[in-house]
Amino acid sequence: MIPTPFDYHRASSIDDALKAMAASGGNGQVVAGGHSLVPLMKLRLSEPGLLIDIARIPDLAGIREKGGQIEIGAATVHHAVATSKLLQEKCPIVSEAAATIGDTQVRNRGTLGGSLAHADPSADMPAVMVALDAEIQLKSAKGERTVKATSFFQDLFTVDLQPGEIITAVRFAPVKSAAYVKLYQKASHYAIVGVAAVLAVKGGKIESARIGLTGATTHAVRLSTLEQALAGQSKDTLDKVTSNAGAGLDSVNSDLHASEDYRRAMVGVFVKRAVLAALARA
Ligand SMILES: Cc1cc2nc3c(=O)[nH]c(=O)nc-3n(C[C@H](O)[C@H](O)[C@H](O)COP(=O)(O)OP(=O)(O)OC[C@H]3O[C@@H](n4cnc5c(N)ncnc54)[C@H](O)[C@@H]3O)c2cc1C
Repeated sequence: MIPTPFDYHRASSIDDALKAMAASGGNGQVVAGGHSLVPLMKLRLSEPGLLIDIARIPDLAGIREKGGQIEIGAATVHHAVATSKLLQEKCPIVSEAAATIGDTQVRNRGTLGGSLAHADPSADMPAVMVALDAEIQLKSAKGERTVKATSFFQDLFTVDLQPGEIITAVRFAPVKSAAYVKLYQKASHYAIVGVAAVLAVKGGKIESARIGLTGATTHAVRLSTLEQALAGQSKDTLDKVTSNAGAGLDSVNSDLHASEDYRRAMVGVFVKRAVLAALARA
């Protein structure tokens, strides 16, 4: 339970963090809330020689509107996302999901960027970001690039993040008719199954849907076959397309919290709940 020795650098700016990363010769790692990294270090599953603390960089925090989109800085803590008036008004799914993360302490330290970079298979925000079709902004000493959330999450704890790169922000178009619901593990609140539904609705009917899933598979995914089947449905016709939503998944997690069969069954239940909640906001 004692990590290997490491140096610590509190970065004052994004450039300062990137410089420290580049100078560390692959030995440095950024820390934000530390809620996932520090336990890994204590188990010696991660042994960085230098921790670069990005939690207090002003340019990495905050929630703002920019060119019709909403941008959230990577070091913004879950509590700020959960209580943001801008998000609650313009894109309530994001604050709704943040409010379900862990407990008060976790929400006050854990960050959006840390959650996305860590890519726990049961984390909430990855499902919301894939359903919103969000863009993830990355920066390294070599420059900047943007990756779609749908291609950022690649496998178990595996994302499209190159050595020396940090997430600086996340951007998405706000949408009201969207909702996130989850069946959660009672002690941690991590999702056993979590579903984010983002809908375009006209006259009570779904025109198009984007459905993000977490907890059931190795990483957050979109359920594209289901999305197509949802087009044209209304709240009265949902059962026939949602009830078997978990059956078509290639491989589904099984652990001490829930068997594969149970998770498959819960995918259908929670897809229906998420879609109904999103329809109610339309
Ligand atoms: C008791 C407990 C309960 C929790 N419950 C939930 C839950 O219900 N739902 C949920 O979704 N999560 C949950 N979490 C996770 C938590 O919410 C954090 O989001 C998560 O731990 C990672 O965020 P962090 O800021 O702490 O990242 P850190 O631990 O600081 O970092 C995690 C990883 O991300 C990297 N990283 C951090 N920031 C960046 C960045 N900007 N760019 C590139 N890489 C970066 C680090 O190098 C490290 O590899 C829980 C955690 C705990 C301890």
